[in-house]
Amino acid sequence: MNNAGRYAPSPSGDLHIGNLRTAILAWLFARTTQRAFVLRVDDLDRVRAGAAEQQLADLAAIGIDWDGPVAYQSTRTDAYDAAIAELAAAGRTYECYCTRREIQEAATAPHGPMGAYPGTCRELTTAQRDQRRASGRPAAIRLRADVDSFTFHDQLHGEYTGAVDDLVLRRGDGIPAYNLTVVVDDADQGVDQVVRGDDLLPSTPRQAYLATLLGLAVPTYAHVPLVLNPEGKRLAKRDGAVTLSDRRAAGDTPQDVVALIADSLGYRARTTAELRELFDAAQLPRNPWILDPTGLFRPDECP
Ligand code: GLU
Repeated sequence: MNNAGRYAPSPSGDLHIGNLRTAILAWLFARTTQRAFVLRVDDLDRVRAGAAEQQLADLAAIGIDWDGPVAYQSTRTDAYDAAIAELAAAGRTYECYCTRREIQEAATAPHGPMGAYPGTCRELTTAQRDQRRASGRPAAIRLRADVDSFTFHDQLHGEYTGAVDDLVLRRGDGIPAYNLTVVVDDADQGVDQVVRGDDLLPSTPRQAYLATLLGLAVPTYAHVPLVLNPEGKRLAKRDGAVTLSDRRAAGDTPQDVVALIADSLGYRARTTAELRELFDAAQLPRNPWILDPTGLFRPDECP
């Protein structure tokens, strides 16, 4: 399968209205450009039992359909291992024994991007590496990057240039790192269009660069504005009745939730099918949607 858009939730809990809005946008971008739409569950980390099933049920309930089987990252470790092995064979990896604190304390390389890994373990001698290995601390595997920034095109943000450092490919606990898995998965699922929240914009130069190193096509990107609470912080479940089950408990139907999300995008629609007829990516609001969950209750339901 080729030419697909996707949504890739982390199954750490229920999706809230902000997540559902991003999922609807990813679905709309894909379906209005004759693409397939695939789902992936990012379940290598932060998994809550039953959350993935609930997320898929909620997506279906608001009218999102998808093609083919859902991919689960926890079943794909062979693919990640193969990608890391390919980079290692090309001399593009090294073992890193730094703790998080050591990285924070080390001065950033003189010409490196702010916050970048300072390269402490990059040029260890064999003796130094053996000494660190002997300490018993498990090594992370890092990419030996030969650029410190990378530019990609974003449908909403235009040419975007951001930092690339010697990013982690496999964490010290053995788990393949997000920046690697996302690149491998998107390629394997035929994803050539990535639509996701703009909180991930700064990670994208690393991912696009990694794709080129692995000989994979760089997808087109659209990083969409997030939903914020009235304090300007990213909407979270603690902000109130913001998940689909919360909204149902408050008397809303899934169509009411779709209507609310459609309204935030400037459309009057109650189903994703209606939205699909109306959607124009060029008209997408460029600013975050500020949502006050306390204002969501209908007047007759106010305590
Ligand atoms: N699973 C990631 C998240 O929920 C998203 C990954 C992606 O869209 O690339 O933040």
